[in-house]
Amino acid sequence: MKHFDTIIIGAGSVGLPLSYYLSVKGQDVAVIESEHSYGRGQNRAAIGGIRASHSDPAKIKICQMSLETIKDMEENHGISVDWVEGGYLYPVYEAEKETALKELLVKQKSFGLNIDWISPEKIKELVPGINPEGLLGGTFSPQDGSASPLKTAGAYYKLSLKAGTVFYFDEEVVSIEKDGDKIISVKTNKREISADVYINAAGANAKEIGMMCGLNLPVEPDSHEGGVTEPVKYFFRPMVVDLRSDLQSANFYYYQNEGGQIIFCVTPKPQIFGKDCDNTSEFLPLISRRIIALHPRLKNVRIRRTWRGLYPMTPDGFPIVGWPKDISNLFLAVGMCGQGFMIGPGLGRIISEILVNKTKKYDFILDQLSLYRQFAGTEMLK
Ligand SMILES: Cc1cc2nc3c(=O)[nH]c(=O)nc-3n(C[C@H](O)[C@H](O)[C@H](O)COP(=O)(O)OP(=O)(O)OC[C@H]3O[C@@H](n4cnc5c(N)ncnc54)[C@H](O)[C@@H]3O)c2cc1C
Repeated sequence: MKHFDTIIIGAGSVGLPLSYYLSVKGQDVAVIESEHSYGRGQNRAAIGGIRASHSDPAKIKICQMSLETIKDMEENHGISVDWVEGGYLYPVYEAEKETALKELLVKQKSFGLNIDWISPEKIKELVPGINPEGLLGGTFSPQDGSASPLKTAGAYYKLSLKAGTVFYFDEEVVSIEKDGDKIISVKTNKREISADVYINAAGANAKEIGMMCGLNLPVEPDSHEGGVTEPVKYFFRPMVVDLRSDLQSANFYYYQNEGGQIIFCVTPKPQIFGKDCDNTSEFLPLISRRIIALHPRLKNVRIRRTWRGLYPMTPDGFPIVGWPKDISNLFLAVGMCGQGFMIGPGLGRIISEILVNKTKKYDFILDQLSLYRQFAGTEMLK
């Protein structure tokens, strides 16, 4: 049986960068992926938003590290991932949202984030054509942005291969063998391999992988639809997030990518749990109504394509990262919710330092994202 230092289950938003950062530190790494290529799970459903402006220390730190990496990808590795530093903008039309975001701002600034409250006039400059009626202002974080999830996955795959990672595509993990508190091997439909450490980065299937080794992980996928328009002349830069909800939906967000296409996504209300990835006939009427109400100038843009993917959700909207108590050589990097693309690169760097350099400096992240937390709170900006 072939033996590795680390086996990662899942070549997605999290598994790909992680495989690279481990391999480049000299580890012998294998990645097992049930799809026939990398990034074909939920990574390809993401619309590409990356921000450090979260509401908690763990995700802020992780995503600051993601941003550093993505911004410098072209300079450091000669690979473009279509990074656009357009910022994140939360326009506000409701007084209680203004109060909540201004309160959050104090916390965000205390973590050193470059984010501020801006006036309606400034918002109108940043997003020409946005509905001015009742606009109270909003928060804007100019150093956040977006990148292509497909190109980012491709970049990490290439870098990882070059660093020596072995990829097993078209191979599904079907069982995990244990001896006492240790995993001794994983079986795919084609082979059995072993490692010193196993990492569950199986996204929407994290729970099933957990079950294979007797672990009940609170990760339940729910489905979200996204879409993309034809390209139009570049006219606004930020990712615009409308935190309001209506009867059928919670927040929605959209931005214009490097090629001029507008990419958008909405959070259904109530959440739709399960793994159904068939498009619905409700999505386009819903999102068109909401986007045009916010940004009437978009009313004549034609939509090219829509799709439906999954958020691997946890009860409180935060990921689960760390060692479970009863299995000594399993590491969890699961429950990425709607933010796995932006979390992946930073988390990969952090986990590689924890596993290889044995650093303790990220213990605050492991504490906050522990499997054994209460799952009582909710992430305000999830
Ligand atoms: C419409 C939409 C828009 C989104 N927009 C954003 C965004 O703007 N920014 C952002 O950060 N996030 C966004 N997301 C969320 C993001 O896509 C996910 O959080 C992220 O892809 C999860 O990463 P992951 O590595 O955990 O899972 P994945 O990327 O799905 O990777 C897991 C991999 O594990 C493989 N796998 C599963 N089971 C097995 C098995 N038994 N054996 C072998 N392999 C297995 C899967 O095939 C998959 O490739 C969006 C999601 C949707 C649906």
